[in-house]
Amino acid sequence: MIKRQQFISEIIYLLEEEYGKNLPTRSYTATEELVSCILSQNSNDKITFPTFDKLRKEYPTWDNLLSAGYEKIYSIVKPVGLAPQKTANIIKCLQIIKTQTGDYELDFLKNMEPLHARRWLENLPGVGPKTATIVLTFGLGFDLIPVDTHIHRVSKRLHLIPQTMDANKAHDYLLEIIPDRYRFPLHQLLIVHGRNTCTARNPKCKECPIKELCPSTTV
Ligand code: SF4
Repeated sequence: MIKRQQFISEIIYLLEEEYGKNLPTRSYTATEELVSCILSQNSNDKITFPTFDKLRKEYPTWDNLLSAGYEKIYSIVKPVGLAPQKTANIIKCLQIIKTQTGDYELDFLKNMEPLHARRWLENLPGVGPKTATIVLTFGLGFDLIPVDTHIHRVSKRLHLIPQTMDANKAHDYLLEIIPDRYRFPLHQLLIVHGRNTCTARNPKCKECPIKELCPSTTV
């Protein structure tokens, strides 16, 4: 275990040297994270963020949005794909949160253990481990690791997770092996590293700052 922690700490150190510390993050509330994540499923940031911004601009409160009704929400959500399902899920999620909490805030989740909070969110329609973990990490400050496509790929190449493990299972596995203090920086750094260097096709191993540590290096 100590050996693995040392490995992770060295990776963080080297990636911070390369990409910097405290990489920028967005500042959404937990409910905004939830809606934005539902929009982003099987879509990409270039379409998702403008769509989310338009939704917020047209309907500045969640009450406004629900009052607008399915058809109007659908017409804004359409560009991100899977619009019927996403529109229905956004409406249902907001209705459930309002019914259970009296407002649209998710701050009560801060009083729960991380995994209980995650399970609560996973019971909402259209919410899986990744969406729930993003909401808790970015919206409420939990020390968790959302596993997107970059984290999943780079974690496999670094042998942090088994080669056949899917992204959903990796959420629990990474929690077991990565201490709290390393989770947020590692998450941010592996995403940047996956986008810039350890790309899905033709990873740039020659210029990779962690090639000496990587069991999958091609150089
Ligand atoms: S050495 Fe290659 S495979 Fe390993 S992390 Fe770097 S880019 Fe990815």
